[in-house]
Amino acid sequence: MVSTDLTLQPFYWRATNLFPEKEIVSRGPDGKTRYTYQKFGDRTRALAGALSALGVESGDRVGTVGWNTHRHYEAYFAIPLMGAQLHTINAVLPDDHVEYIVNDAQDEVLLVDPGEPFKTIERLWDRFDDVREVIVLSDEHPKTDLDCVSTVEELVADADPLEWPDLSEDQPAGMCYTSGTTGKPKGVEYTQKMIYSHAMMVATPSAIGVDESDVIMHVVPMYHVNSWEFPFSAAMAGAKQVYPGPSPDPATLARLIEEEEVTLTAGVPTVWINLLDYLDDHDADISSLDRIVVGGSAAPSAVMRRFEDEYDVVLEHAWGMTETMSIGSVSRPKSHMHGWSREKRFEKRAKQGLLSPGVEMKLVDDNGEELPWDGESVGELYVRGPTVVSEYYNRPEANEEGFEDGWLRTGDIATVDADGYLELVDRAKDIIKSGGEWISSIDLENELMEHDDITEAAVIAVPHDRWRERPVACIKPKSGADLTADDVLAFLEESYPRWWLPDNIIFVDSVPKTATGKFDKKRLRESYEDADLPRAPGGSSEGNENVGDDD
Ligand code: AMP
Repeated sequence: MVSTDLTLQPFYWRATNLFPEKEIVSRGPDGKTRYTYQKFGDRTRALAGALSALGVESGDRVGTVGWNTHRHYEAYFAIPLMGAQLHTINAVLPDDHVEYIVNDAQDEVLLVDPGEPFKTIERLWDRFDDVREVIVLSDEHPKTDLDCVSTVEELVADADPLEWPDLSEDQPAGMCYTSGTTGKPKGVEYTQKMIYSHAMMVATPSAIGVDESDVIMHVVPMYHVNSWEFPFSAAMAGAKQVYPGPSPDPATLARLIEEEEVTLTAGVPTVWINLLDYLDDHDADISSLDRIVVGGSAAPSAVMRRFEDEYDVVLEHAWGMTETMSIGSVSRPKSHMHGWSREKRFEKRAKQGLLSPGVEMKLVDDNGEELPWDGESVGELYVRGPTVVSEYYNRPEANEEGFEDGWLRTGDIATVDADGYLELVDRAKDIIKSGGEWISSIDLENELMEHDDITEAAVIAVPHDRWRERPVACIKPKSGADLTADDVLAFLEESYPRWWLPDNIIFVDSVPKTATGKFDKKRLRESYEDADLPRAPGGSSEGNENVGDDD
C-alpha cells in the first residue's frame, strides 16, 4: 500500500518534478553557486546514499553545524527523507553547550562547515561520546589530525543515490535545542508531520503566504529553528531560494536582494535595523522586496514604518519559539480594520498578533485561572497545536515545568485584546536575547560566583537599540578586593564567546533581594533600563558583531 502519511517526501517530489528548473543560489567564499531543483534533488539523493554507506540508518541523528548554504540545504532533505533525524546545532554557542548538545542528542555523524564550525568540532572532539564521522561541507579537505573526516563533495561524487524508504508521519525528522531557564539547553524533536504541518501553515495567506512566484532569501541562521522552517515551505511551494552564506553583512544582503530579485525574507529586528542604516548611505535597489517577516524579538514600529514609507516593503511582525517550530503568530490588521487610521493599524501591527492557523492559546494567571481577552489582564501565554511540541527530549523535570494538560507554557507574559491580538509584555524566562540569540544570565552568574573576589552577581537584560537586549552584570565584590571591570571581563572571556560578555559591569554594595531572598532582577532591570550606563572598559560593545566571523 502507498503511504499517505504527512512526510517531507511529497515536498521533495513537488520541487524536483514540477519546478525542476527553478534556481537555488548560494553565496560562498568564491562567489555564488547557482543550480536547479533538479540538480539539488540529485545531490540530495547522493548525499543520502553516502550517509547510508557510512552506516546512518533510520532513526539515527545526524548533526549539522553550518551556515546558510546550498550544501547545508541538501542535508535538510537528505537526512529526514532517508528516515534519519536532522539535528541543527548552533555554531556560536559556548563550547560547553555544544558538547552538551551533541552528546545529549547522541549525534553519530556531523556535517560541518569549514572555518570556525570545524575548529569548534576539532577542539571538542575528545569530549564527544558518539560522533564517529565528520563531513566537511566543502570541496576542500581541511588540515586536521582527525582521521574520520571527508568532504561532502568527495562523498557525493562517489555515492549511489538512495531510493527513499517509506516513512511514518510520527517519526522524528528534526531536532533543535533551545536555551533553558536553568542554563542547560533543552532539545525538542520535530516529527515528519510537524514539519509538514508548519510548512503548510506558513504557506497559507492566513500566516505568511508563500508561493512559487516568490524568491525567498534565508537570513535566519539555519541552526535557529531551521531558519524558521522557511527552507521547507520554499521547496513545498517551488519557490526560488537564496542562501546568503556565513554572516552576511547589510551590503551583501542588499546586493543579493537586488541581483536575485528577492521578494520575501525573514530575520530578527537587528538585521533589518542594520539594513536600513546601510541603505541610508548607499544606493541599492530593493524594489523587488515585497515583505520581510520579523520576529524573535519585538519589531520596533519605527522600523516597520520606515520600510513601508521609504521602500514599500511590509514588515510582517511574527512571534514564535523553538517549541512552536518558529512562527506561531503574525500581526496583520483584519480586513475590517483596513479603513482605520494608520496610527491605529500600526498599534495592532506592533503587537505579536493573531495565532497562525492550527495553533490555539489561552492566558493564565499565577493561580492557574484563565484570564479574559480584554487587552489589560496580564498572564502567561499557553499554546497548543500540531506545530507545538508536547515535551522536551530527555528532560522529565523540564517537562513538568514546561507543559500542562497538553498545553505548552511559553514563559512569555502577555495580554490579548478583544480582537484576539496577542501582545508580549514581559518574559518569565531569565534569559537574555541579544541579536536574536540567547545568552543565559544564570550561566554567567554561576561563572561569576566562581571568582574568588565576587560574593554576589546578578546578570540582567537591558534594552539596546541595535541588539534589542544586552547583558549587564551587577556585582558585589568581596570586602577589600581590588577588582576592576576589566578583571571580570577577562575572567568571563576564558569560558564564554565575546558576544556573551556583559556590556557593563556595575559594582554594588549589595544586589537587591526579593522577600524570599532571591536576587530581585525585576528591580534591577527597572533601575537600569533607562540608565545611560558608561560602557565597561574592554566590554563587549560590539554585541553579536563577531558572531560567525570566519570568512
Ligand atoms: P527561540 O526559542 O530562541 O526562538 O525564542 C523564543 C522566544 O523569543 C519567545 O518565547 C519570546 O520570548 C521571544 N520572541 C519571539 N518572537 C518575539 C516577538 N515578535 N516579540 C517579542 N519577543 C519574541
